Amino acid sequence: MKRVAIIGGGLAGAACAYVLKQAGAEPVIYEAGEELAAGASGNPIGLYNPRLSAHRTPESDFYCAAFSQALRTFQELEDIEWNACGALHLITDEKRQKQLAQTIETWSWPDEEMRLLNAAQASDIAGVDLQHDALYLPQSGYVSPKKLCERYAQGIEVRLNAKIESVSDVDADAVILACGMGVKKFEEARDLPLFPVRGQVTFAKPSEESQKLRCALCYSGYILPEKEGVHKIGSTFQQGVEHSKIHDEDDRENIEALAQIAPGVAKELEVSGRWASVRVTSKDHFPVIGRAHDCKDVYVSTAHSAHGAVGSIAAAHLIADMILGRPLSLGKDVVRKLKPARFMGPV
Ligand SMILES: Cc1cc2nc3c(=O)[nH]c(=O)nc-3n(C[C@H](O)[C@H](O)[C@H](O)COP(=O)(O)OP(=O)(O)OC[C@H]3O[C@@H](n4cnc5c(N)ncnc54)[C@H](O)[C@@H]3O)c2cc1C
Repeated sequence: MKRVAIIGGGLAGAACAYVLKQAGAEPVIYEAGEELAAGASGNPIGLYNPRLSAHRTPESDFYCAAFSQALRTFQELEDIEWNACGALHLITDEKRQKQLAQTIETWSWPDEEMRLLNAAQASDIAGVDLQHDALYLPQSGYVSPKKLCERYAQGIEVRLNAKIESVSDVDADAVILACGMGVKKFEEARDLPLFPVRGQVTFAKPSEESQKLRCALCYSGYILPEKEGVHKIGSTFQQGVEHSKIHDEDDRENIEALAQIAPGVAKELEVSGRWASVRVTSKDHFPVIGRAHDCKDVYVSTAHSAHGAVGSIAAAHLIADMILGRPLSLGKDVVRKLKPARFMGPV
């Protein structure tokens, strides 16, 4: 049985552990924090979407596969606060309208999985008055990243307060570096062009109008329907900032972005809390997944940016395939686009 050391107990690491355990390997998670999901994956509730683009690209192929794998995985797990409440992507200009019409043509998903709606139809689905047409994705929704990590790691050996400095500190047949920006501390991933992006989610008590909201609204930000008396309104993006301190102005920014697109929903919301952390992105804004450059048994899963809820599970399947010598679950163009070595000259 292959023993696999996974460094990092966020979505990327815990998802790898889950998939490897199901495949009969023996994963062990080493997490520097006092609990799993001590970093960006500590988000109590996150949005998930398939992230399709107007034309097929390796990026959209990755997220399309990831979306489908994520839905199957969420179905297998209990108590992850999963709600496929649907998402309306509001359309604010003609260019976006054309892009989304092209997206529908390119992907040819059936109407019940993706369709364009006029403002009146979108309002009916949302349960609130909307002035914009929208792309409707009924299977999108929200899930708890924190609870996902806990469920993924159920029945798996987890070592907490275990900050690993070098892959030689762990005794395993293979090592997965899944520790966000922390991967750069390891010789095997030191040269990866990764960047921190701080973000803050705002929690707000619903108003009489906003509590009617039945699905997620996506625009430059997003708002989720109220759950237990709280809306989650996300999120700010501050490139190059690597701390999780709270900023009051981020709450204002989140509410203002909502007010611009759905003023009736934003009116009279009362901010009741917030959560901030640091995402990781790469130079080309695509996740970094695969065998570390020039290393036999060291793998990387990081740079999941704002899409770790779905991206981490597709990453886990791909890395498990590589470690276990199975046919790869993603096509060769996608694998090439994801691999750490893409930054080391011609690929
Ligand atoms: C404000 C905000 C809102 C977001 N909203 C969404 C959303 O709605 N939907 C979505 O899909 N994504 C969202 N994201 C992004 C998502 O949270 C990330 O993509 C995901 O959490 C990344 O997971 P990860 O495991 O790569 O990193 P992390 O969760 O940061 O995990 C890395 C772990 O490694 C540990 N570690 C670091 N160094 C070491 C070491 N040397 N040894 C051992 N352990 C170590 C850390 O303690 C940490 O627990 C959001 C992020 C932020 C900040």
